[in-house]
Amino acid sequence: MTKTTREPGRTIRLLRPPGADGPGIFRITSRKKDTYYVFQEIPCEIGGRGFAVHRLGLGTLYHTRVGVPADRSCECMGFMAHNQCKHVQGLTILVERGLV
Ligand SMILES: [Zn+2]
Repeated sequence: MTKTTREPGRTIRLLRPPGADGPGIFRITSRKKDTYYVFQEIPCEIGGRGFAVHRLGLGTLYHTRVGVPADRSCECMGFMAHNQCKHVQGLTILVERGLV
């Protein structure tokens, strides 16, 4: 299930799919450091699929949108600075693999 994403060495793994019983959990491993995220799909009416994502244990919540490039967005600093981020890249991979 683990696969390299666009940043060399960074991988994402779905630990728990989101469902009726609660949000999903995925883990991003980068430079040997694991970060866990809780996420849930939210209604999105402007194109793409919307997800609420936050780092486990911390309160910062990001609304992340994935889809064709024009439909990708995220509220984090990384996306604002670079127009891409690990949240969008990670969720894009999970969507492409049909996991969410
Ligand atoms: Zn982001």
